[in-house]
Amino acid sequence: MKIIFSSKQNGARFYDRLGAVEFDSSLEIPNGRDPNQNAWLTITVNYTLNFVDSRNLVPGLIVQQNGKFYAKPSRPTPNAQNVQIRNWDVESRSAFVKRFAKGEDFWNYRFLLITPQDYDAFDFTSWAGPGWICRPNVICLFRLKSGGSPNHLAINVVRKERDTDFFRSDSGNYANTDVNNRTLWHELGHALDQLHIRALLGDPTCMVDHDGCYDEPPGVAPNIQGHGTGLIPQNAKAWHELIARHTETPQPKWQVSLATNTPPRKLQMAFQVRGVMPKNW
Ligand SMILES: [Zn+2]
Repeated sequence: MKIIFSSKQNGARFYDRLGAVEFDSSLEIPNGRDPNQNAWLTITVNYTLNFVDSRNLVPGLIVQQNGKFYAKPSRPTPNAQNVQIRNWDVESRSAFVKRFAKGEDFWNYRFLLITPQDYDAFDFTSWAGPGWICRPNVICLFRLKSGGSPNHLAINVVRKERDTDFFRSDSGNYANTDVNNRTLWHELGHALDQLHIRALLGDPTCMVDHDGCYDEPPGVAPNIQGHGTGLIPQNAKAWHELIARHTETPQPKWQVSLATNTPPRKLQMAFQVRGVMPKNW
């Protein structure tokens, strides 16, 4: 396996910056041993967790009233209340750390980018069987990495006094219970540069977020960036944008598929030997 397009300038890994959100990405193509191996586009988010409580106050997030400590949601909306918090202990911290790391699974290997018919830079030769020219598609991988530099995602976490209380979380401020349900997956969607479902679908009124942007339009199944856990090709936004940058090709040429087991396209070597390699395949 080799990494391509990443060392064009200075040997550094390809590093991309999208809007206010940053992550690392790398593109690798198969070595040719397996004609059915696709390429890999990996997004890595380096993160830190800051366990906030009365001993580790974050101004603006924690307010003190009558000797009690409360977490204050960053966006004042009608259902956003201050919630009382308690101090973390070893067990609650380690449970959160473990569950947070598992959030990776939700976004990992959920999309495949179909390599365009006229793009041959990934092509590899496989000597398996009759010999093949293979054009791999691109698997979209997601990695959450604790620590790491630069830090892409700094998260404050509060521990609610009562787990049943509602805390309006956002991409940088979580409550302890957010790793028990889809909230983590949704917030990681934001870390992957996605706004809410209506913005993803191009609704111009949702380029600035408001509560309605969360509602799936008619005909769209409950989505992770809306009210559910479903995924559609638009949720591959970050990988879709990155593949265009890595390969310096127009993004619309790359089709997003949810069928992640789609194998590379293959042409028998004999085609090339006879000099009749098609231009587009
Ligand atoms: Zn959201």
